[in-house]
Amino acid sequence: MTVRAYVALGSNLDDPPTQLANACNALQHIDQTRLEAVSSVFRSSPVGPGNQPDYLNAVALLITGLPALTLLQALQQIERAQGRVREERWGPRTLDLDLLLYGDVSLETDTLTLPHPRMYQRDFVLLPLQELWHENRVLPNGSDLATLLRACADNRVVKTSCELPAGR
Ligand code: ATP
Ligand code: CA
Ligand code: CA
Repeated sequence: MTVRAYVALGSNLDDPPTQLANACNALQHIDQTRLEAVSSVFRSSPVGPGNQPDYLNAVALLITGLPALTLLQALQQIERAQGRVREERWGPRTLDLDLLLYGDVSLETDTLTLPHPRMYQRDFVLLPLQELWHENRVLPNGSDLATLLRACADNRVVKTSCELPAGR
């Protein structure tokens, strides 16, 4: 049995275009998993603390045979391999991989919440997701993407010409 899993990619340190490209290559090598599609790359202003560089963000669609928690561990392994250091919350990072959706699974544990609890308020997640989302009109929370995007305050997210492996 396989599941469609959507992963958000973000980077604002150490050459973000290369970080995202390397992450896409690494996603292709996760056990029992295929990289089905990657969105365009979007640039956004940071929401975290202090004076951080802009972020580059994208979303990838994986088809996976792994359980959700095993997939999250594989994503965290890729973050570590690309030099992610966990310091202050929402601080700058070489690579952030968030598991947005894992099929239609809804769960809340100490280490994994699905769907990702903050995805519905983030234009830098919803815009790339919109390029890949053809399943239903609505997301698992019952909202449609266009309505959620209109509700995102002051979005300063722009599509870039940066290209990723398997990307659009
Ligand atoms: P945010 O979650 O608001 O995007 P962040 O990505 O900066 O913030 P991290 O420091 O990368 O947060 O992750 C904190 C913890 O979130 C991780 O240790 C992980 O166990 C947990 N977590 C819970 N649900 C998810 C999910 N759906 N995807 C990724 N991590 C998750
Ligand atoms: Ca995140
Ligand atoms: Ca994260």
